Amino acid sequence: MHEGKWEKRWHPLRGEWVVYAAHRNSRPWTTGKNQVPAAPVPAYDPTCYLCPGNPRVHGTQNPDYKDVYIFDNDHPVVGPHAPAIPDDQQVTGNGLYRREKAGGVARVVCYDPRHNVTLSDVPAEQIARVFAAWREQMQEFLANPAIRYALIFENKGELCGVSNPHPHCQIYATDFVFTHARQHLSAAEAYRKEKNGNIFEQIIQNEKADGRRIVAENDGAIAFIPFFARYAYEMMIFPKRRHATLITMPDAELLDLAGVFREVIRRYDKLIEGSFPYVMTVQQAPVDGGSYPDYHLHLSILPPLRQPGLIKYLAGPETGGGNFMADTLPEEKAEELRGVKLLSY
Ligand SMILES: [Zn+2]
Repeated sequence: MHEGKWEKRWHPLRGEWVVYAAHRNSRPWTTGKNQVPAAPVPAYDPTCYLCPGNPRVHGTQNPDYKDVYIFDNDHPVVGPHAPAIPDDQQVTGNGLYRREKAGGVARVVCYDPRHNVTLSDVPAEQIARVFAAWREQMQEFLANPAIRYALIFENKGELCGVSNPHPHCQIYATDFVFTHARQHLSAAEAYRKEKNGNIFEQIIQNEKADGRRIVAENDGAIAFIPFFARYAYEMMIFPKRRHATLITMPDAELLDLAGVFREVIRRYDKLIEGSFPYVMTVQQAPVDGGSYPDYHLHLSILPPLRQPGLIKYLAGPETGGGNFMADTLPEEKAEELRGVKLLSY
């Protein structure tokens, strides 16, 4: 009786099972209206450390910027000035305990001088300029031999731990490769060996063939909640042509990617009649000088909600055990997002 609603699915990029128990979530609920409207936020906040002209910690003053503005994080989690660890203290505990300098570069990317906009308020052309600024950063990291990987990420909304609404993201450029990228690369390599194919291409093909989980698409990009999504509103957004990193993406393809991304986040916002929280990352290949012809960069969006107004708490199975138990099916959530009526402009 719970056919198609109660099953587990294999996550091919992570090599783990995701359990769907969507039959538990079938109680009716009303959309929208259950979000408390926030107080209006001004376009300029004199106390915001990201607004143009304002002082940051340590006294640096932001320039009167008009477009995308990037600066080194004043409280870097990884940085060139992190203390060095003496050679004889790097490996201890019979080889099990290793420490190294927390080196790297941490940057903040302000999307817009206005304090009270999000990327869903601005035209696709402006989003594409943000992507182009990321691309320029990637070029710099590729040229820096101390950097092996660059994680571009946006935490959006208080539910994702962000108290400052000024539209921005961050970049952690590190001397190690982030775990998701390593998992993706080993999954891609294994798939290449087993099927002589590209794992990302196959996922895109599978999603296109099925169609139920596609949320937005244009000539150059496609967005879907993957068959194996762990989060209810999880989204993968791919440029249709394969690029390992943003570095090789031409402007026209950035604009298509921006257009699809914009449609997705506007659907999110409209669904809850508010600003939809999420963690967004740009999943790319390392910039360590290696060649990664099988990597297919994509945007990954992981929202913390499982329904409007309801948070998905990560608990025993997820935090403790490492596997996701989902209360909803990707097909239903994609349909819900496609059903949102967007005003075109
Ligand atoms: Zn601000």
